[in-house]
Amino acid sequence: MRRYEDLAPSQRCIMTPGPVEVDPRVLRALSMPVLGQFDPEFTGIMNETMGMLRELFATGNRWAYPVDGTSRSGLEAAMISLIRPGDRVLVPIYGRFGHLLHEIAERCGAEVSVMHRPWGTVFDPEEIIAEIRRVRPQLVAMVHGETSTGRMQPLEGIGEVCRELDALLVVDAVATIGGVPVKTDEWKLDVVIGGTQKCLSVPSGMSPLTYNERAEARILARKRVERGIRSDDDAFGEDIVYVRSNYFDLGMLQDYWSEKRLNHHTEMTSMLYGLREGLRLALEEGLEARYARHRLHERALAEGLEAMGLRLYGDPACKLPVVACAEIPEGVDGEAVRSMLLDRFGVEIASSFGPLKGRIWRIGTMGYSCRENNVLRVLGALEAALLRQGFAASPGAAVQAALDVYERV
Ligand SMILES: *Cc1c(COP(=O)(O)O)cnc(C)c1O
Repeated sequence: MRRYEDLAPSQRCIMTPGPVEVDPRVLRALSMPVLGQFDPEFTGIMNETMGMLRELFATGNRWAYPVDGTSRSGLEAAMISLIRPGDRVLVPIYGRFGHLLHEIAERCGAEVSVMHRPWGTVFDPEEIIAEIRRVRPQLVAMVHGETSTGRMQPLEGIGEVCRELDALLVVDAVATIGGVPVKTDEWKLDVVIGGTQKCLSVPSGMSPLTYNERAEARILARKRVERGIRSDDDAFGEDIVYVRSNYFDLGMLQDYWSEKRLNHHTEMTSMLYGLREGLRLALEEGLEARYARHRLHERALAEGLEAMGLRLYGDPACKLPVVACAEIPEGVDGEAVRSMLLDRFGVEIASSFGPLKGRIWRIGTMGYSCRENNVLRVLGALEAALLRQGFAASPGAAVQAALDVYERV
């Protein structure tokens, strides 16, 4: 007798800022046979994935590999491996994920300076540069694409000053990687952390990152090798300020990803298959074509929302191309609309956090979810739900406006 039903998740149209729908090719890759983590076939896949990540991050860095865990694990690994207790760290904050970087820096024992911009806006890079010159931090940590507010921070010029003053620049590109250009080398970013479940459309569970020789030098200065792994006991000096995490010590992780293959955790074989297939899809499409696709569907969605009579939230000059934030109109119950979208139409959109809770909906156009039939579906469904709530949307206008965008190309 069976006590539990077969697993049967619904096929949703997921239009949130992550997780998003997963390409069937990635789902198939996840079901391939498991290999041992030192099997040459598997280490070959690891090396290949590193090469693909270098292309994605637009970098010549030696190190580009995933940390096992959600995107926040990549952020935490980078911060804890680079920040020594007492280091000065500067965090410019313009949304929820900036607050996360602040919190992680504090947990690393840093002396943290923060700067704030009102939600819905971003910094002028000159403001950040002036603050770097004043604070003289050892490390600057900031978010490229803030999914909480739907804004994107221009990064040009900041890396230059960090080099001049010997600060490392760590960038959370979790939301942008694979959907918007992230030019690691050109913008002189020392460490960039990406995510899988957003524009790469791979399930949540890995955090690809890359770092250059400047960051590696700091990591190596704190290096410790696990006892019992190497025979030479002098591999760990006791007087170094070693990294206060074993799992997230990038010095140990890079030994595992290097030709040395020093044992650390057991690599997530199936997730790596999924990541490799997601990267293969992105590189097959071509990164420039992929960025252009994200811009096209962004435009169709935004014009549709406006034609419906909704106001877009935030400063349009710094809109994050992969998330549209729409203000919830007066008298409309935002959560009732979201429930109706999910229950009746199988469409998921997101609410928001903190000061924006109950004020905006966030609609993602990321990766595999970012396609014409999804955009038309979310617009049609949202219009129907709003009409149901008594909001005077002009019927049909949203989908027609989006169709106009598609017919113009
Ligand atoms: C989603 C997101 C994260 C967190 O990712 P998890 O996979 O949930 O850990 C971090 N930063 C930004 C900008 C994000 O959008």
